[in-house]
Amino acid sequence: MKAAAFDYIKAHSITQVFDLLQTHGDDARVLAGGQTLMATLNMRLSEPALVIDITGLAALRGIEQRGDVLRIGALATHTQIEQSALVARLAPLLTEAAPHIAHRAIRNSGTWGGSLAYADPAAEWPACLLALGGTVVAQGPAGERRIAADDFFTGLYATALQPEEIIIASELPIATEHQWQGMLQLARRHGDYAIVGLAASAQRQGGVLRAPRLAFMGVGITPWRARETEAVLDGKTLDDATLTRAVAALREEIEPLPDLTNTPDTKRHLAGVLLQRLLASART
Ligand SMILES: Cc1cc2nc3c(=O)[nH]c(=O)nc-3n(C[C@H](O)[C@H](O)[C@H](O)COP(=O)(O)OP(=O)(O)OC[C@H]3O[C@@H](n4cnc5c(N)ncnc54)[C@H](O)[C@@H]3O)c2cc1C
Repeated sequence: MKAAAFDYIKAHSITQVFDLLQTHGDDARVLAGGQTLMATLNMRLSEPALVIDITGLAALRGIEQRGDVLRIGALATHTQIEQSALVARLAPLLTEAAPHIAHRAIRNSGTWGGSLAYADPAAEWPACLLALGGTVVAQGPAGERRIAADDFFTGLYATALQPEEIIIASELPIATEHQWQGMLQLARRHGDYAIVGLAASAQRQGGVLRAPRLAFMGVGITPWRARETEAVLDGKTLDDATLTRAVAALREEIEPLPDLTNTPDTKRHLAGVLLQRLLASART
């Protein structure tokens, strides 16, 4: 299909973006990498009167360490994150997750901010942000505000962003010497969205896990933290008995939604398999 007609403006400043969003309200859409938006326009799932291209805004680019956080600009592409030595050192979960996002052509254009704003519950970046306990930096006409990942994803493809706000960056706590991060997912083919995926982080010292964060993708209407299972693991040695208890707790706690080919029971089973495998890998 072909998109309905729309006006297009390439923004030259962030204040211009806010002015346009305030003037046009729900009739306007921000364009970043276009890897989701263009498809929804072409399928006429979205018919904005105005598309505001933000890709010229240099302030939204870049990946850098700022004090004790890793700041990733909204326009950082999936490939830039995948290939960043700084990310590999300070947030290795992202380096591990990036190759699972679609294919190279999509990763070359798709952006960190676009993925978080779209808030697909099966996507990698929202789950990683949640697993790392990161923060979204949003900006609107009233200024900047920070939204914790735990509060950011509010529903199916819905976030805590106000209509006239955009994501300008995210801040991730820097991996410490004792931090463990890992992810696993099951997809039918490489590059497909995960049927079920798990991104996780924890403090690990002497075989004991503390403050684990288990963020699942593909199981609910948002990326989802298994908080009761986290509590089962917190402060425990990762022996076989703990693993068994954690998997049992997860299968009790999780209430996966079905997709076109997988029932809730299948997803519940797969989530347990992923947790078991990921925790086993955390022992080494
Ligand atoms: C065939 C295919 C397979 C894919 N597979 C995967 C996959 O396996 N895993 C995965 O995670 N993703 C996958 N994607 C999605 C891809 O990662 C997109 O790049 C991403 O979801 C959106 O990023 P974007 O920069 O392209 O955003 P766009 O398409 O430009 O925008 C997406 C939405 O976010 C809004 N938006 C964009 N930037 C901002 C901002 N800074 N602030 C506020 N709102 C903003 C837009 O208005 C729009 O509503 C796939 C896409 C395709 C086409």
